Amino acid sequence: MSTLEIWPQGTQCVARYNYPGTASDDLSFVKGEVLTIVHVMQDPNWYMARNEEGGQGLIPSNYVQKREAIRTDKLSMMPWFHGKISREQAENLLVPAETGLFLVRESTNYPGDYTLCVCAAGKVEHYRIINCPPRLTIDEESYFENLIKLVEHYSQDEDGLCTRLSKPKSIEGVLAAQDVFARAGWLINQSELDLGAVIGKGEFGDVVEGRYRQQKVAVKCIKHDATAQSFLAEASVMTELRHPNLVQLLGVVIDKYLYIVTEFMGKGSLVDYLRSRGRSVITQKDLLKFALHVCHGMEYLESRRVVHRDLAARNVLVSDDSVAKVSDFGLAKQQALVSGDSEKLPVKWTAPEALKQNSFTSQSDVWSYGVLLWEIYSFGRVPYPRVPLKDVVVHIQRGHRMDAPDQCPPAIYDMMRECWNLEPTRRATFKELLQALQRLLKQA
Ligand code: ADP
Ligand code: MG
Repeated sequence: MSTLEIWPQGTQCVARYNYPGTASDDLSFVKGEVLTIVHVMQDPNWYMARNEEGGQGLIPSNYVQKREAIRTDKLSMMPWFHGKISREQAENLLVPAETGLFLVRESTNYPGDYTLCVCAAGKVEHYRIINCPPRLTIDEESYFENLIKLVEHYSQDEDGLCTRLSKPKSIEGVLAAQDVFARAGWLINQSELDLGAVIGKGEFGDVVEGRYRQQKVAVKCIKHDATAQSFLAEASVMTELRHPNLVQLLGVVIDKYLYIVTEFMGKGSLVDYLRSRGRSVITQKDLLKFALHVCHGMEYLESRRVVHRDLAARNVLVSDDSVAKVSDFGLAKQQALVSGDSEKLPVKWTAPEALKQNSFTSQSDVWSYGVLLWEIYSFGRVPYPRVPLKDVVVHIQRGHRMDAPDQCPPAIYDMMRECWNLEPTRRATFKELLQALQRLLKQA
């Protein structure tokens, strides 16, 4: 028997089972509920905990699992997909082994197709998977949307193959995303998630509104297995983060598709909010608060050494009670790495050293924050009006900077200028910016 690990106050747990509660000071809960430890008891089998509605009571520790941050980037929804390996390499990976061990590789004889390799009675069979977009098939009878669905089908039933697929042969060091998220307590059961209307569109797929455990949520739906990879990285970064000014991850569904479930932000993106309400509705104090909220979130990221890389008013969302929160984590870097070109970087927001040397740091986020401040105080205008995109970098290097927006307080414009120092180490830090903004709010 291993000794029980003691979870400190503040630890988040997820319920593994329903607990109806027996005594009056028990906290009852249902499977999947998130609970926070508020007090460590003498008896390690019990904790004092709080639920999301603020209810408090005793919980049995064996009914819950600790929720953990995911710190690996070696995740895949298809750990059994080995890419371009030869027939011989596949056979060496699979034998000697038990019947049902399988992997998928890219076909060498038929470029664009795949090969399913499966072990049966000490021999490896190779099945050609014909790729006729948007579908895949082995027998030209059953068709599948993607490899995950195909593997799922032949795992349930051999359906003409020599054997059912029973055990995936994973790439060395690569972990099945589903297992990792489940073990860390972040997996959501698809059946508990109701999907509703589309509220946003991205290259990857749709953002829809939904309902999860009586809570309104936003769901990013990533349907393509190739794109899912970079979004797994985004979701795992989010498991490390918890702050009132960052859009909170609630969990992920990893199935045939990847769904990333976050808290719902009723007032949409900050840039749309500023543009649609404008000067007649939004006060100077509101602007200062938005600036402060974002700065709080970024100061937290800076302290955790997480670099955002795509900070801009379009990636800040506003809640129903008008709290601004940063969203879209780690995406820009993922996308830049995947595509291998810097053309996709948002030129008007990205620091010069990040554009030129790919050097992304909290200090390059500070540069973007300066541009975001300018967006806030200009009520959502596009930065560098009248400067063509291709000239922006040269324009900046020649020492030009944007003018102060109309009616922008001088103290705020000074902050922007401190964010736009060409030398990253001479820019203000988020910590310093936060202190300055807090002083301004006191005077306001
Ligand atoms: P992309 O990677 O395409 O930039 P985003 O995460 O920025 O995707 O989402 C695209 C749009 O979907 C946002 O601009 C916003 O309108 C909407 N959206 C995203 N997340 C939420 C959320 N949590 N609540 C409300 N709307 C959201
Ligand atoms: Mg975005």
